[in-house]
Amino acid sequence: MSNVTIPEGAYPAIIGGERIFTAQSIEVIDPATGKVFATVARCGETEVDQAVAAARKAFNKSWRLTTAAERARLLSRFAQVISEHADELAALESRDTGKPMRQAKIDVAFSVRYFEYYSHMAEAVFGSVIPAATDRFTFTTREAYGVTGHIIPWNYPLGIASRTLAPALAAGNCCVLKPAEQAPLSSVRIAELALVAGFPAGVLNVVPGLGSEAGAALSGHSGIDHVSFTGSVPVGRKIAEAAAKNLIPAALELGGKSPNIVLADADLDLATPVVASAILQNAGQTCSAGARLLVHRDVHDDLVSRLKGIFARATIGAGKTDPDLGPVISALQHQRVSELVDIGRGEAMLVHGGRRPAGAEYEEGYFIEPTLFDNVAPGATIAQREIFGPVLTVTSFSDLDEAVEIANGTDYGLVTGVWTRNIGRANWLIRELHCGQVMVNTFSNGVELPFGGRKKSGYGVEKGYDALLAFTHVKGAVVVM
Ligand code: NAD
Repeated sequence: MSNVTIPEGAYPAIIGGERIFTAQSIEVIDPATGKVFATVARCGETEVDQAVAAARKAFNKSWRLTTAAERARLLSRFAQVISEHADELAALESRDTGKPMRQAKIDVAFSVRYFEYYSHMAEAVFGSVIPAATDRFTFTTREAYGVTGHIIPWNYPLGIASRTLAPALAAGNCCVLKPAEQAPLSSVRIAELALVAGFPAGVLNVVPGLGSEAGAALSGHSGIDHVSFTGSVPVGRKIAEAAAKNLIPAALELGGKSPNIVLADADLDLATPVVASAILQNAGQTCSAGARLLVHRDVHDDLVSRLKGIFARATIGAGKTDPDLGPVISALQHQRVSELVDIGRGEAMLVHGGRRPAGAEYEEGYFIEPTLFDNVAPGATIAQREIFGPVLTVTSFSDLDEAVEIANGTDYGLVTGVWTRNIGRANWLIRELHCGQVMVNTFSNGVELPFGGRKKSGYGVEKGYDALLAFTHVKGAVVVM
């Protein structure tokens, strides 16, 4: 890994298989130092028009006519090419986002797995034969939408790009991807690698740029047939409005305030490290971060004291040094998190952290100590607002009804972790929780399990077989001969 060099230069857009540089560019900052280390194309309406046109041409001329088996082979080859570039991609992702190298390697492995998984599933898109009147043959087929727009955030650029592109491509769509301006480089790189893998030009296009420019141009473009958005609630609303104007379907994967619920009968040895990593992973910048700990009164003191120990021991540093915790993405994000931590000081008991770590190496980058608040009222600002930083709030409960009321008592409904040895309680909670995914005695899920939010966490589905079908529409046919 140490001899991988990350090109510090100008990164282009990828449109119709060409590397396109724009007159203006965006500076890409290393979050560990606050210094610019690369630039990327700043696409606007013109480039988005070109990318949508390139995708349409590729769809009509070649991609629409491929068989599922051909797409499966290409996706599988793409997974292999990404795997061959794993070290380079991990180093690039770590530099661009600040995330620890360990996490960046996991993200690359997920990217490979998405393309591998959907290569297997591409041939499993079936219609049905429908019993109807005997003089006719009545059936359905599933068809790709055509050109799909994909707008992604900066927290897991490679993972989320792969999560949304792989099923769209497998289903037979041609894609235009708009990465976040803070961390666009791995998106550009995988579009280049898609060409190496043999994808026809125009099947995957990448238009880096600002949200208000390239993002707005793509989501409002009359030439796209579906838009997939992962990001914040306010921007999600804008995407939904743009999609409504063009009358196209939208999938919105938005924010979260996900709880881990630890019952009195939980195995604390099992739960503690996972509850900690659910918020420390990626410096808390995870949509499904376990940002709230709801713990039964009987085990509260034990669990909080164990967590305090883990938070105190967590190492902090630049991604390349592979610490437990890297910096947050930007100066703005650092300021947002710090402001919410300050609000928390007035609302709850600060048990650990809350500041920029001491030391010269932390002065330039966007570092924040892992932060633990106890005695947090369910309605407190820090228990309700998505902080998107390494900040865990702890609230205790006395019985299961109270746990469910607190867990369901936010605007969000993405995922929930449940820790118990009792399967009856686990099943009851799975039924009562208002969220898209429940994980019992774990906080990890694979690419196979459908993922999507309730309430302000959005709508639509990513991952699993359902996500593949979500990139198709059903055509009904009746034939009389
Ligand atoms: P964001 O909404 O600010 O930006 C996301 C993307 O939208 C970026 O590419 C941005 O350039 C673009 N964008 C911004 N304004 C736009 C506009 N007017 N029109 C079109 N596009 C526009 O979000 P963020 O700050 O990058 O990411 C953090 C948020 O993403 C958090 O709320 C987090 O929970 C959420 N998120 C959700 C999931 C999920 O799967 N549910 C995954 C990761 C992140």
